[in-house]
Amino acid sequence: MPALRAALAVLVATGLSAGWLRPCASQDDPPARAGLSVHLETRHFRLHADLPGPSVACAGELEKFFLKAAASLSLPATVTLRPIHVHLFGSRSAFDAVVEASYPEYRGRPAFMVFRHEPAAAADASRWEWSIATWCRDNPAETRRELYHEVTHILLRARAPRPPPWLDEGVAECFETACVSAAGEVLCDEANELDLAAVQDAIQAGRMVPLRALVTATPAEAARWTDLHYAAAWSFVHFLRHGRGGGLRHLFDLFVEAVSTDPAAADGGAAAFAKHLLPLGGAGGATALQGEWLEYLKGLGRR
Ligand SMILES: [Zn+2]
Repeated sequence: MPALRAALAVLVATGLSAGWLRPCASQDDPPARAGLSVHLETRHFRLHADLPGPSVACAGELEKFFLKAAASLSLPATVTLRPIHVHLFGSRSAFDAVVEASYPEYRGRPAFMVFRHEPAAAADASRWEWSIATWCRDNPAETRRELYHEVTHILLRARAPRPPPWLDEGVAECFETACVSAAGEVLCDEANELDLAAVQDAIQAGRMVPLRALVTATPAEAARWTDLHYAAAWSFVHFLRHGRGGGLRHLFDLFVEAVSTDPAAADGGAAAFAKHLLPLGGAGGATALQGEWLEYLKGLGRR
């Protein structure tokens, strides 16, 4: 459909000029489905894969995860109205071939996400068509981690299309480690052990990412983030969701709500941060808030 593609090109150009098109989600056609023969559909997902066994298990788990993560983020299941396309390739080489041919900007990434929409749906991200792609690892937990990370991005962006990078990656890092208990319950938002180790080591070595740098990072700056920045983003979101015995959670929800309802969000959430989160530092402002955040992290136990 040349007309649709032309319209999409205009929208992509607009997004880029505003500087708010995140590097891990671009507006583009979904990955080619040729070669992915299994098509499964659940309430919120349409799975394209070439490995029937893992695909079936994966689809069921994704559906459970979606509902639990949405509830945990105080989002309705109707946050996405169209099925999320999941392209699960049977090998890394098959995934890399698609990336090389159609998405060279994602070369070297473990997974990626794209979206598209009709021009009339531009302002309503719940009507966008989201697609994620990755490959099936030998260790299913690693595959799940990639899928959960990308699905969480979609959940958040369907509500807040332009979240500040620390929120976007922090929330995705929080939920990527979700697992299913022996009783079949999805456990979300446990401490991300890799990120916890990274931030505790950084604090001890005096090289932790400063709070101000973290929360003011633009998407362009976040495109160059290291693993420590991702870990720092996780740790700040974890602090807001669990610090002071969970007493900060309502402020976190208010902040998410504020960046969701601001259609421009061109300030990277700065006004919402100043209104809902900065007051946590009291008279000490950002310095005091950073101090409490770091003390909280030092007190978290590693398993
Ligand atoms: Zn991410």
